[in-house]
Amino acid sequence: MTSTEIRQHFLAFFQSKGHLIVPSAPLVAKNDPTLLFNNSGMAQFKDFFLGNGTPPSKRIADTQKCLRVSGKHNDLEDVGFDTYHHTMFEMLGNWSFGDYFKKEALAWSWELLTEVYQLPKERIYVSVFEGDAKDGVPFDQEAFDIWKAIVGEERIILGNKKDNFWEMGETGPCGPCSEIHIDLRNQDEVDRISGKSLVNADHPQVVEIWNNVFMQFERMADGSLVSLPSKHVDTGMGFERLCMAIQGKQSNYDTDVFQGSIQHLAKKSGIAYGQDKWTDIAMRVISDHIRAIAFSISDGQLPSNAKAGYVIRRILRRAVRYGYTYLGFKEPFMYELIPLLAQQFKGVFDELISQEAFVAKVIYEEEVSFLRTLSTGLVRLDKLMEDTQAKGTQILTGEDVFELNDTYGFPVDLTALIAREKGMDIDEPGFQLALNAQKNRSRKDAGASAEDWVILFDSDEVSFVGYDHATWTTRIVKYQKV
Ligand code: ATP
Ligand code: MG
Ligand code: MG
Ligand code: MG
Repeated sequence: MTSTEIRQHFLAFFQSKGHLIVPSAPLVAKNDPTLLFNNSGMAQFKDFFLGNGTPPSKRIADTQKCLRVSGKHNDLEDVGFDTYHHTMFEMLGNWSFGDYFKKEALAWSWELLTEVYQLPKERIYVSVFEGDAKDGVPFDQEAFDIWKAIVGEERIILGNKKDNFWEMGETGPCGPCSEIHIDLRNQDEVDRISGKSLVNADHPQVVEIWNNVFMQFERMADGSLVSLPSKHVDTGMGFERLCMAIQGKQSNYDTDVFQGSIQHLAKKSGIAYGQDKWTDIAMRVISDHIRAIAFSISDGQLPSNAKAGYVIRRILRRAVRYGYTYLGFKEPFMYELIPLLAQQFKGVFDELISQEAFVAKVIYEEEVSFLRTLSTGLVRLDKLMEDTQAKGTQILTGEDVFELNDTYGFPVDLTALIAREKGMDIDEPGFQLALNAQKNRSRKDAGASAEDWVILFDSDEVSFVGYDHATWTTRIVKYQKV
């Protein structure tokens, strides 16, 4: 089954169960101040769950473009190193807004996976929330009983709050999840470690493919849980992982979703995929990152120096450097993948094909601009790493990292990535200090020319979450005219 057919079957299946098929929301979150990028299928339906709107149908299904590179969900560091986490991926989902609940949702998951897609039943495991007495949330007996009748008790794994309980925030809708995992190990390995249900944590080839979330409670401000009068279902299935399972591959990159790009890179570099660990990682990273970049741009987010735009620029620079160092690409190469992707997503995400030339041009120009400083920056970084090691330490100083950022346009995470390849690391707080010092300097320069204003209050607060730190400096300045 091709990936196109797999996607079509998903949508047709849920349409046959009375679901309205809707388009993906843009990758770039437009109306949500808490989110830079859409990172799950439910993001565009948040208001319906919060009771702030009425859905066009009580049953909806779609494929949602997701990006997990910042905030709560940040998978960037795994991309290319494992075979099933992407920056941009498609999340197939079906929703019930106060309509069907666990019984239908779980039975349909099973029907789709084993009857439509014909995945082997003996390779599927499911997880159920075990409960958390301390937190006042009960064991999900209902899901357990439903699964027991379908897959048998021995295929059910009990999961804790971290993996099997979903909350929108400190307060608000929440509820237990039930995940579906598939065991893609070779048969001889399955035979060797028999008799034990495995989840992803135990083996890289046992992969979570689908998550069913059941919103049945509301967390109140005092911490208590109340049953929601109207219960909802929110599911998300990783499309590329599903393709891997159905196409019998052991890596998402071996499916037709990624092979077009990978083969293009292999041909261009003259290096076969599967030949070497590092050239493979480079090909995986590039074929992953180009999707994130292409869909962000076609959804209106251009690379830039701040916020969402800087996330895109950083991803692009990471990919360019992988191509430069490992595949020998000294000239722009990312933009050449755009026509391929545009064709691949024709009829699914047409925003790419309709803006093909524009997207390619933006990427080309970004590449040209970064390639201008990349080689000297890499030479400089090598020298800095050598000097650092000569001093008997493995940590690049904040000033060094700052210099690379300021002079050569190396995002901090890129410097950290290269340092780690050499078994080294960077002084990240030190980098923040150097960055703030520079901001103070430019602030003072700016202050000198605005002399009829005095600064009453100036906070140097730096607030940053996970990956986005370098750009999220919060500063409050209060001026008064004199
Ligand atoms: P994982 O534990 O593998 O990181 P998750 O529990 O964070 O996945 P969910 O938030 O439950 O993922 O998202 C629903 C589904 O989306 C997952 O079951 C998985 O198939 C898919 N998925 C999640 N993150 C990614 C990713 N970075 N790349 C590709 N697919 C993903
Ligand atoms: Mg995750
Ligand atoms: Mg998980
Ligand atoms: Mg999950």
